[in-house]
Amino acid sequence: MKDCAERCDVLVCGGGFAGISAALAAARMGRQVTLLEKQYLLGGLGTAGLVTFYLPLCDGMGRQVSFGIAEELLRLSISMGAEAEYPANWLDSTDGANRTEKDPRFRVRYNPSLFAILAEQLLLKEGVKLRYGCYAVAVTKTGHRIDTVVVESISGRQAIHADTVVDATGDACIAHLAGAPTAVNSQGNALASWYYSLGQGSCTLNTLGFSDVPSEDWAPGKKPVPLTERRFDGLDRDDVTDMMVCAHASILRDIQKRRAGDASIVPTAIASIPQVRMTRRIAGEYDLSEEDVHRRFADSVGMVSDWRKRGPVYEVPFSSLYSADVPNLVCAGRCTSVTEPMWDIMRVIPCCAVTGQAAGTAAAMGRDFPELDVRALQAVLERNGVVLHEDQLPPRKNAHTSR
Ligand SMILES: Cc1cc2nc3c(=O)[nH]c(=O)nc-3n(C[C@H](O)[C@H](O)[C@H](O)COP(=O)(O)OP(=O)(O)OC[C@H]3O[C@@H](n4cnc5c(N)ncnc54)[C@H](O)[C@@H]3O)c2cc1C
Repeated sequence: MKDCAERCDVLVCGGGFAGISAALAAARMGRQVTLLEKQYLLGGLGTAGLVTFYLPLCDGMGRQVSFGIAEELLRLSISMGAEAEYPANWLDSTDGANRTEKDPRFRVRYNPSLFAILAEQLLLKEGVKLRYGCYAVAVTKTGHRIDTVVVESISGRQAIHADTVVDATGDACIAHLAGAPTAVNSQGNALASWYYSLGQGSCTLNTLGFSDVPSEDWAPGKKPVPLTERRFDGLDRDDVTDMMVCAHASILRDIQKRRAGDASIVPTAIASIPQVRMTRRIAGEYDLSEEDVHRRFADSVGMVSDWRKRGPVYEVPFSSLYSADVPNLVCAGRCTSVTEPMWDIMRVIPCCAVTGQAAGTAAAMGRDFPELDVRALQAVLERNGVVLHEDQLPPRKNAHTSR
C-alpha cells in the first residue's frame, strides 16, 4: 500500500444526497474536507440510480419541517427548471401562513444529470476535495478510533487520514469495516428498474417496479406491481449482480412491449447502481422509531416528515447518527440508526439531506461524538437555517391528526 497520501479534517465517504450535504456543512465550517465516491458523479441513488423525486420537506399539513441544506439542495435541483410538478405555493410564495393540508406538498422532480453537475460545482466552490473512482475498502484504527480509510482507485491502494469520518455510503460500509454495530434489512429489496425513455419527442421517467411516489398525487390509481417475487439484500456481490441483470431484463421486456405500439421509443438512461432502498445501517446509540412521532428530543438535529402520509413529524436525535463503539465515525442518509418500520420513512432524499447536514456539522466540530457538546452543535445548525423542534413551528391549520 502507498503511504498515507492524503490528510483531511473530515472525510466524507459516499457522494449521495447525504454525503453532499455532509461535505457542504463541514466545508462551510472551514474544515478541510475530502469526499470520496466510487462512481464518477455525485448524487448516488438520486442521480446514478435515476430516483429523481425529491420527496416533501413539509408535513403535508401546510408546514415546512426540513430546512437548511435540505431546502438548498431541493432548490438547486430545479435551479435550471423542474422536470415535472413545480410547487409554486412553496417556491414562489413567502407567505406560508395560509397553507393547509389541502395544498400540494413541498417536493419536486429534477433532472439527474443537471443535479450531479450543479452539486459538483457547488462542492468545488466550497473547497471540498472530490475523489471519484475511489472505493473505500478498509479502515485502520488505533483503539476504537478510525485513523485512515483505505481506498482503491486507478492510482492503486491508498490510505486517507482523517480526524473524523462521515459514513454516507448508504450501506454503512465504513461502520461495518470499522467494526461498529450494524443491522441489515430483514425484508430485502423488491426489484426496481426505473429508467428514462424517449419517444414522440418527450423524455419519460418510467418507474418500473415499486415506486415510492404516493399514487394519490403522482400516478392516480396506479398500484405497484412487483416485477419478481425475489428479494435482494444488496450486500453481496452475486446478489447485486443478479439484481442488475434482472433490472436490465425487465427494462428490455418493457421497452419491447412499448415499442410494439410505438417504434420510436428508446431507453435513454438506465441506472448504473443497484436501486436498493434499505440494506445495512448502523445500530447507533438510539434507534429512531415510528413511535417517536411528534416526540421532542433534547438532542434533535433537525426534523423530517413522512413522505407516505400527511401529519407525522419526527425530530431526529443526534444519538441516532453514531455508535460510541467508534467515536469518530458519524452516519448520514439511509444508513442511520432506525427501527425497521422507521427505515422506510428515513431513507428518502430530504431525510438524507437533514442527517447529512447534521453529520457534517458534527464532524467539523468534534473528534469524539459521544462527548460532543450537542448544544453547541444545535446552535450552529440553527444559525445555518435548521429548525430543531416541532414546537418551534407555527401551529397546524385544519389539522385532522391530534398530537
Ligand atoms: C427504486 C427506488 C425508489 C426510490 N424513490 C424515492 C423517491 O421517490 N424519493 C426519494 O426521496 N427517495 C426515494 N428513494 C430513496 C432515495 O433515493 C435514497 O434512499 C437516497 O437517495 C439515499 O441517499 P444516500 O446519500 O443516503 O445514499 P446513496 O444515494 O445510496 O449514496 C451513497 C453513495 O455512496 C457511494 N458508496 C457506497 N459505498 C462506497 C464505498 N465503499 N466507497 C466509496 N463510495 C461508496 C455510492 O456509490 C453512492 O454514490 C428511492 C430508492 C429506490 C431504490
